[in-house]
Amino acid sequence: MSSCHQDGPRSNLLPNPSIPLPRAAHERPIIVAIVGPPNAGKSTLFNRLTGLHQKVANFPGVTVEHRMGKAKLDDAHEVFLVDLPGVYSLNPLAEDEQVTHDVLKGERPDFPKPDAIVLILDSTNLGRHLVLAAPILSLGLPMLILLNMADELALRGGKVNVSALAVELDCPVSLISAAKGTGLDGIKQFLLGTAVRLNTPPPKVELPVLHDIPKCRQWAAGVGARASYRAPAPPLWTRRLDSVFLHPVAGPLVFIAVVIAVFQTIFSWAQPAMNGLQQLVLISGQWVRHMLPASPWRSLLVDGIWGGVGSVIVFLPQILILFLFIGILEDSGYLARAALIADRTMAKFGLQGKSFIPLLSAYACAVPAIMATRVIENKRDRIATIMIAPLMTCSARLPVYTLIIAAFVPNLPVLGGVLSLPAATMLSMYVLGFVVAVLVARLLKSTMLKSRSSSFMLEMPPYRLPTFRSLGLRLVDRGKVFLQKAGTVILLVAVVLWVLANLPLDHGKAPPIEHSFAGMVGKAIEPAIKPLGFNWKIGIGLITSLAAREVIVGTLGTIYGIEGDEQSQGLQQAVRHDLSAAGAVSLLIFFAFAMQCFSTLAVVKRETGSWRWPIFQFSYMLALAYSGSWVAFHITRHFLG
Ligand code: GDP
Repeated sequence: MSSCHQDGPRSNLLPNPSIPLPRAAHERPIIVAIVGPPNAGKSTLFNRLTGLHQKVANFPGVTVEHRMGKAKLDDAHEVFLVDLPGVYSLNPLAEDEQVTHDVLKGERPDFPKPDAIVLILDSTNLGRHLVLAAPILSLGLPMLILLNMADELALRGGKVNVSALAVELDCPVSLISAAKGTGLDGIKQFLLGTAVRLNTPPPKVELPVLHDIPKCRQWAAGVGARASYRAPAPPLWTRRLDSVFLHPVAGPLVFIAVVIAVFQTIFSWAQPAMNGLQQLVLISGQWVRHMLPASPWRSLLVDGIWGGVGSVIVFLPQILILFLFIGILEDSGYLARAALIADRTMAKFGLQGKSFIPLLSAYACAVPAIMATRVIENKRDRIATIMIAPLMTCSARLPVYTLIIAAFVPNLPVLGGVLSLPAATMLSMYVLGFVVAVLVARLLKSTMLKSRSSSFMLEMPPYRLPTFRSLGLRLVDRGKVFLQKAGTVILLVAVVLWVLANLPLDHGKAPPIEHSFAGMVGKAIEPAIKPLGFNWKIGIGLITSLAAREVIVGTLGTIYGIEGDEQSQGLQQAVRHDLSAAGAVSLLIFFAFAMQCFSTLAVVKRETGSWRWPIFQFSYMLALAYSGSWVAFHITRHFLG
């Protein structure tokens, strides 16, 4: 351990192990937390130090696991080690980050605050991992920093000056290999120091403001540089793969091929599952109708709720398959390469590469994407990115696009059979959203949000095989979000809509839907949307979908359910009654551009600090949607009728 205990500023930290101090019997055992980013080697170290004396437990109330184990230091001393979930920062976004944060701050009622911390970082990836040192040091607990994977670092020609790093961080530092078992002596000495409760003053270091991510990165880069850190060369096969995936010509071609393959597979895999679910929803609806006596309640249950919620739920397979692919691309390390390739194009549009990661995640949902823009230092760049994020094709649009495409686009081969026409149409919708987003960004950046752009710094992770566990967790997570929305927003809208579609009573009976309150609203806006090719029923859907895009599918399900016989033929046929082919194109365009999502507007208000930006965003997107649909309707009417 070439740390400061020999010659550095903290030479009083480690005790002479031969004279252990006595410990009062009533004191609780010493607890030392092992903290570090995922894959830094926490478990490997934990196993080495505790051997078989360990057990796995769940934190109450959450699905997060931790392991506790006893490390025997000598005949008289032992400490309890706890292996906490891996984290990159102490700004909790996910459940396991929250657990680590709470334990370290002593904020979990069911778990005592640790007495000391062993921070383990991957020495081959110190540029990124050192960022975590800032928030951990700020906790003010006695601390040891381990730079793991010393064997890999040496093998691939990296280096770091451990003593200099110890001085920089005012805390003992060791270069170890948890897997090979080298460099571990210093750890026992440190633990013994805590076991005898030596009064170790907390490290005193100038730290950056901690929730300012760019500042933390700069701080870490400075510390790394002063400790003469040289990152190792990437492994050979990473270099080989990169020479293809990042090649100026081959790279973009591979990227396009990957995207096409993903879309085609989503379509061919999801369709059977969706048809199955649709049958299930229909049959179960009929069954309930059959079982219950005719009453308004039965209509509410079957037409209102099941018609509304059920017609959205059938899109679950598509959403899951999409996220399976995103997960594979991200976990394998390919997505970071795709980002770099796209960045070369983005720079031409005045957007900096850092915008790309938030924009990519906007393909799932604009809400986390807008939060992810916090990594962009330049305020104007950040606002420009927030303004265009909802133009990316989020997963809420998927049910709408799928419904319209399935109803109107015939299943013909295109591109010599590589793609089917429905898959190609869907792909064009994704491309359209992206292209328009980039053009809007260009416009904003050259007018309201002028600024110089800065350079792109994205770390390329090594290629890895994605694990089933990580992919599974993503799918469960996305599935939960989707179903939660179906069970809350969509359910609520379905119930309200059903009520509005059945009132005012006409001689004690529900009126025909045109004469209901819902119908009146639809009819009232019909003149405004007729030029886009929409009738009053679609109009009701446009209004309800202001809450969230996929609500329109549920709304149409409810309306057709109340109308009666059309539901039995399925939503697709019903939609064909109400839209011409040109109207369908127009509706796709409208959903591509309109800002129909309350949650996004709320997040934009929070992140920009005023209502000015969300109002601007809502207005420009509505104008874009209306004019885009109008143009699309009037052009395609001549070809499609
Ligand atoms: P955790 O996620 O932090 O618990 O990390 P693990 O302990 O599971 O280790 C992640 C991976 O790194 C595993 O494949 C380990 O075998 C490997 N690993 C851990 N320590 C070392 C080391 O010192 N050298 C090398 N080459 N690999 C290591």
